Amino acid sequence: MLPYGRQSITDEDVEAVAEVLRGDWLTTGPAVGAFEAELARWTGGVPCVSVTSGTAALHVAYAAAGITAGDQVVASPMTFVATAATAALLGAEVVFADVEPDTANLDPDAVRAVTTPRTRVIAAVDYAGHPADYDELRTAADDVGALLLDDAAHSIGSTYKDRPIGSVADLTTFSFFPTKTVTTAEGGAVAARNPEHLLRAARFRNHGLVREPEHQRDPDHGGWHQEVHAFGLNYRLPDVLCALGVSQLRRLAAFRDRRTALVARYDTALAGVPGLSLPPRRAYVSPSWHLYPVRIHDGRRREVYDRMRRAGIGVQVNYVPAYWHPVFEGLGYRRGMCPNAEAFYAEQLSLPLYPGLSEADQDRVVDALAAILR
Ligand SMILES: *Cc1c(COP(=O)(O)O)cnc(C)c1O
Repeated sequence: MLPYGRQSITDEDVEAVAEVLRGDWLTTGPAVGAFEAELARWTGGVPCVSVTSGTAALHVAYAAAGITAGDQVVASPMTFVATAATAALLGAEVVFADVEPDTANLDPDAVRAVTTPRTRVIAAVDYAGHPADYDELRTAADDVGALLLDDAAHSIGSTYKDRPIGSVADLTTFSFFPTKTVTTAEGGAVAARNPEHLLRAARFRNHGLVREPEHQRDPDHGGWHQEVHAFGLNYRLPDVLCALGVSQLRRLAAFRDRRTALVARYDTALAGVPGLSLPPRRAYVSPSWHLYPVRIHDGRRREVYDRMRRAGIGVQVNYVPAYWHPVFEGLGYRRGMCPNAEAFYAEQLSLPLYPGLSEADQDRVVDALAAILR
């Protein structure tokens, strides 16, 4: 089965991991700082804290933003459930605002319609790698004194109005799952523009431990002393995986170029196929594509999904609207809330896209899809 996404691992990646395995540090050692520094080169210098997954990154980011019970978080419904689940776990009331009908990114007008003085965070997703409209979202956030969070699990290496993703929102989260653009097997990171948020994020991923004597309440115990001032978790990304991350980030520009070339090939090859629309692109973004999301019209998405899979092509659907998950249904969220997201979901299909996808395999995808739709 041709997958919809997959990692690209070279001998250099393997060697980078093996070198750490032969060394003194398996977990928190020099590779952690090296990976975070390398990552900050992609966020326009905004400092980063590595964690164990994109989900952990979201949990850490909301905690760093100070989310607690009763706070409101406005989120995109066109995302993996973790964007909303991690806020709900901290006691937030998640309010879903609808997406733009074409990009499937959070619609700033829909956000403005639901924000209140209790809104603490507006959580956007750069769907498929195409950045959301951050200038408009920033205005909506400022109006109510909320922070802007970018779930950039899809968009590492993208730019918004020539600004790199990671530098645009107050808090940006990345995922390094194998299907994403850069992988550490499992892994994630938070980029934080505000040093206070960065410090809280770094502490939350390490049990909330305060190690610096100047910040301790009771620093005179001795050199071993550490204190917890706010609860945290162990979300530390080990050295072994950070070494893989450093090695992978060296190829991020090449990954982005290859994905861009494959997207251009899909755009050309699929242009004349009926019953189908192709992903849109705003003039002010330069996406690093994670997905190639097409829309299958005439109620044929399920049929096309099944037939492509039978042909050995691992297409995927991204995503069922987050509030359709029974856990949200149980909390009183109802279908029909975000009609654009639901209409998008009904037609969406992700075609295989990853750096190792050969042009011959891509042609096979195009031919199979065209044969079904013609
Ligand atoms: C993958 C993904 C996540 C979760 O990342 P993990 O590393 O799998 O925990 C969160 N949000 C979005 C939009 C994602 O695509």
